[in-house]
Amino acid sequence: MEEKNFLKNYIMSYDKIMNTLYVLFCNNRKRLEKRKIGVTTFNYPIDCYKIGNGKKHVLLYGTTHGSELVTTYFVLEVLISLLQLSSEDRILQEYTFHIIPILNPEGYIISSSNVLANVSSVSLEKIAAEYLRVYNQDDEVAMTGKKCPKAFYNVLKSNIYNIPNHKMARSVGNILKNCRLNASVLPVWTANGVGVDPNSNSIHCFKEIVELRRKQKCAYLRYNDIPVTIPSPMSYPGVGTFCNCPENHSLYQYVTGLYTMNTNSLNENKLIAIFSYHSTGGEIYSFPNKNGMDEKKEKLYKMGMEKYKENVGYTIIDPETRYGVMDYYRDKLTDVLCLTIELSKANANPIGPFANIEGLNREILNNKKAIIDTIDFISGN
Ligand SMILES: [Zn+2]
Repeated sequence: MEEKNFLKNYIMSYDKIMNTLYVLFCNNRKRLEKRKIGVTTFNYPIDCYKIGNGKKHVLLYGTTHGSELVTTYFVLEVLISLLQLSSEDRILQEYTFHIIPILNPEGYIISSSNVLANVSSVSLEKIAAEYLRVYNQDDEVAMTGKKCPKAFYNVLKSNIYNIPNHKMARSVGNILKNCRLNASVLPVWTANGVGVDPNSNSIHCFKEIVELRRKQKCAYLRYNDIPVTIPSPMSYPGVGTFCNCPENHSLYQYVTGLYTMNTNSLNENKLIAIFSYHSTGGEIYSFPNKNGMDEKKEKLYKMGMEKYKENVGYTIIDPETRYGVMDYYRDKLTDVLCLTIELSKANANPIGPFANIEGLNREILNNKKAIIDTIDFISGN
């Protein structure tokens, strides 16, 4: 793929993203397919774009967590890069890409509308650097176990009236009230519009994650004032798998549908990889559970992660708990490499990753290359 970034704006409003996608779709009707794979509680479509004619299928998605705005920027960049290729290009002949730019539109809107009320494309890098600095200071205090007001909340001025959808704004207002929080947490909102975190809405370990949250009571570090046992801005799993979490359900149905190709021996098409993008930390979380892991699967994951790492230099993490939604796919799908990538080595959602634009641009290019190198590698090219 071409060594270039294409989008001018790093943080776009939801409407602007939908417009950009609409223009891309209209200009590439012959080779870009669009499919609505679900609808959120407040009626936003969850769209998936398909490009390529290859038998090996790859799914990429961004913004599971609302505030991880950089992931949608990245996934859109990947889509545009693929559209720059000629239809005859090897990559599009060998692979079919399924791309979901925003899995959690409601969370994206809640976070981005408050960010965009504070920053323009001109001021972004400067404000982001200040935000990152204050955020890291707050972390140092939080690490001592102290619970005190966070200074980073004051860098961006937030208000529920920045959220353009009144019904959703009302829901958000009620969640804040019940959590005894004020509007300053809106930029870091990772859940959907009814306060369920799509990544915590575990498919295979729901009871375990509820128990874990009961013990935690509040989120970690600088978020240690945010409850995780009631509908909240982050980490609340909901009352049951897929309950009030159409984002998770839509993804599940789509992945399950794609995976039928793998279980049908007559079908030559196969799903080979899923890349789920999160942000901050520059980490790769992808070890499947040891139970049920065979030699072949272990090799696929070890080598797949190492290959991805070669391009980006991220740290491979073996987490203690594996209750997240992607962990389900890692356990369940035997022959698919399911990677969770924490984009951006910088800390501080939603704008920390934009504190060094030059560095971010390089990371975006490296991640694009990492995707192609990884899928080529696992499919024996
Ligand atoms: Zn995340």
